Amino acid sequence: QYALQSKAAFVQGGSRGIGAAIVQRLASEGASVAFTYVSSEDKAQALVKTIEASGGKALAIKADSANESSVRSAIDSAAKAFGKIDILVNNAGVLAFGEIDALTMDDFDRTIAINVRSVFVASQQAARHMPDGGRIITIGSVNADRMPFQGGAVYAMSKSAIVGLTKGLARDLGPRGITVNNVQPGPVDTDMNPADGEMADGMRSYMALNRYGKDSEIASFVAYLSGPEAGYITGANLTIDGGFGA
Ligand code: NDP
Repeated sequence: QYALQSKAAFVQGGSRGIGAAIVQRLASEGASVAFTYVSSEDKAQALVKTIEASGGKALAIKADSANESSVRSAIDSAAKAFGKIDILVNNAGVLAFGEIDALTMDDFDRTIAINVRSVFVASQQAARHMPDGGRIITIGSVNADRMPFQGGAVYAMSKSAIVGLTKGLARDLGPRGITVNNVQPGPVDTDMNPADGEMADGMRSYMALNRYGKDSEIASFVAYLSGPEAGYITGANLTIDGGFGA
């Protein structure tokens, strides 16, 4: 008996990094998982094959989170394939890094479109296909709470927006028993923030644990929040950061 048996999940941005780990983990707990990607077609298809090889069900859909109608139709086609969407994970995110004079208004608008606007669009659309007791989980960032270096203003702003959006959506969907939560990772070793990158030693110096997180550590937290034991957690901003914010 798997915790997510007969559940259907939709992950925005599941081809690489934290999103791919979430897709894999939800599938390993028995969920059918649809996920989106933009550029990593090969990785997306390889992930589907891996899941199918171990008896799971997965569906990769090309859909740019910056594009409202792409997100809505990706969710509609996943709901058509699976009959419903029990779990929505908003993981797709971008990091436009640069100090005040370096960032352009395109960087600003793109960050808002992907990190914030797509979360609202997907939540609205998925809620239309979501039975009572569903789950909405967004991957925010500890940078909403602590931004200890230069160059991250717009990124931190976008992740702070998720804090308020999560609280409000939890109120809207509470009457249906749908929980809405924000998972705020600290530094996690991915293409976005490699543990051997230029910023890595600085990142480690801010953490109590002095190491990067693994994508699987974020995925297991998301799996818990997706499952039947987490039904009393909602409207919460939950930090999993190795003590970065401590
Ligand atoms: P990566 O850059 O390693 O992977 C990003 C994933 O999101 C890819 O699958 C990518 O797909 C997808 N994606 C990006 N843009 C879009 C888009 N416009 N439409 C659809 N999918 C998109 O990032 P991480 O795994 O590191 O980060 C995942 C989330 O976690 C982000 O929201 C990030 O802000 C957050 N986070 C990450 C931290 C870290 O230290 N790594 C710390 C705190 C939060 P494709 O390859 O097809 O483009």
